Amino acid sequence: MTQVNSAADPTAKREARDPEPRELVIQVQGLEKTYQTARGALTLFRDLSLEVGAGEMVAIVGQSGAGKSTLLHILGALDAPTSGTVICASVNVAALSQRAASAFRNREIGYVWQFHYLLPEFTALENVAMPLMARGMSRRLALGAAAKWLEEVGLEDRGRHRPGELSGGEQQRVALARALVNKPRLLLADEPTGDLDSITAGRVFDLLQRMHGNHGLTSVVVTHNMELAARCSRALRLQAGKLVPGSLAVS
Ligand code: ADP
Repeated sequence: MTQVNSAADPTAKREARDPEPRELVIQVQGLEKTYQTARGALTLFRDLSLEVGAGEMVAIVGQSGAGKSTLLHILGALDAPTSGTVICASVNVAALSQRAASAFRNREIGYVWQFHYLLPEFTALENVAMPLMARGMSRRLALGAAAKWLEEVGLEDRGRHRPGELSGGEQQRVALARALVNKPRLLLADEPTGDLDSITAGRVFDLLQRMHGNHGLTSVVVTHNMELAARCSRALRLQAGKLVPGSLAVS
């Protein structure tokens, strides 16, 4: 769009009322995903589209088996689409080689899963430091950075505990710190509170929202918890292979 000098140009008033073009962190168009299975082809989506603006926290709801996790995996370059365009954080993820996809994930994406997947033989601090050491940071610096992240998630006094010595909510907080330690742009969360009781789930979600806001993240959260979905910027329902604005009524 041509830049308008508002002092000199009478059309500027009209221009000024136009909404700001929003920066899109996720742009998906014409997405198809078909799995070839022993029982034939299984098409989860065909011509699916999705746009997520910078700073949005979008919930994706839908019945089990609708393809929510698969969609999240495609957004995070953990799975490849059958066809379509998938642009995430300015990168065409569908076109990445395996090696480039791995670098992209480390740099741009923080994942949180339903299960924490912390390594049981390492302390909370070491688990959080792991992605930094994987990028070549020295152990001393990585542990220092990890300690700050544990503090952010309210677990500064649990750094020396192993995952088995932490509660479910605490484990998920450590997993969130680990997801964010590389300062990603995008947070992808797959049923992040699905394994927690409702009070703990609410608290972990509070933390997720706080981290989202404090760190300028763009987040996509798959959840079957309608109350939590309603707390996001918007909710979309994955239904019959399409994303539709989410009625949060249980279907
Ligand atoms: P949701 O997260 O909505 O429960 P999923 O994305 O996990 O759904 O799975 C959607 C469907 O795709 C399911 O029927 C599942 O069995 C199937 N599916 C997932 N991954 C594969 C795969 N690698 N090969 C074949 N089918 C798969």
